[in-house]
Amino acid sequence: MRRKLIVGNWKMNKSLREGRDDYLLLRSLFEESGLAQKLDMGVAAPALMLPELALRKGPLALYAQNCHWAKAGAFTGETPSGHLRELGLNGSLVAHSERRSMNGESNRTAGLRMQALVNSGLECVFCLGETLEERENGLLEKVLSEQWLQAIGVSDHPLLAETVLGADPLRPLLSIAYEPVWAIGTGKAATAAEAQAAHAFVRGLIAKTWGENVANKMRILYGGSVTTTNVKNFFAGNDVDGALVGGASLKPVDFLDLCKVGL
Ligand code: PEP
Repeated sequence: MRRKLIVGNWKMNKSLREGRDDYLLLRSLFEESGLAQKLDMGVAAPALMLPELALRKGPLALYAQNCHWAKAGAFTGETPSGHLRELGLNGSLVAHSERRSMNGESNRTAGLRMQALVNSGLECVFCLGETLEERENGLLEKVLSEQWLQAIGVSDHPLLAETVLGADPLRPLLSIAYEPVWAIGTGKAATAAEAQAAHAFVRGLIAKTWGENVANKMRILYGGSVTTTNVKNFFAGNDVDGALVGGASLKPVDFLDLCKVGL
């Protein structure tokens, strides 16, 4: 059985003070709940919140929302994996659909970011997913295959199966977040069956890349309008190993409830 992972994506919300207060509240709710015995939970916070939150990090994991692939250099506005390590973060999201659509991130740069994180021992939550038009035109599997294969195919510092699994058998360094673009922030979630089918397909892609052993250990999260009401249905899918949660992660009490219900 894969251990569930639920990550709240705070996007560009909250003031720095609100972020600190909410992180501390969520952390103590998480600690008191005993949920840490059963699942991994974390928050992907805006960049300028991270240094302060990292100082207060307990069992509630902490992720950046993006990470550059280069160690250093002329990359104005970017953040290298080394800084995330120095802060003691768990890792970072990569290739969220908002970054793909608004910041021109390609499968190639997604692959480079993924490689940089995992090769430096940090967790990467790699996002992929189709638009509504692609789904309606029967292109779901083609799009997911391209997003995966083009990212993995970037050959600068290729990932090896044993590196992807990392040192902790319960927490592989690479997780996938399947996020249908049409379900993100729209209130129109995929059905549990749609999610399970896409997850099974993605697991098959991973198996072709690194073999069944890695594929069976890697966690595949569903993202797209997950709420307290629908989370349990998603988690009933054999290949659904957690969730990436946007809007419903913003209020600590409600987010913790969602995690409890999901179990
Ligand atoms: C997300 O930000 O990745 C996301 C899935 O958002 P929401 O849960 O609000 O749809």
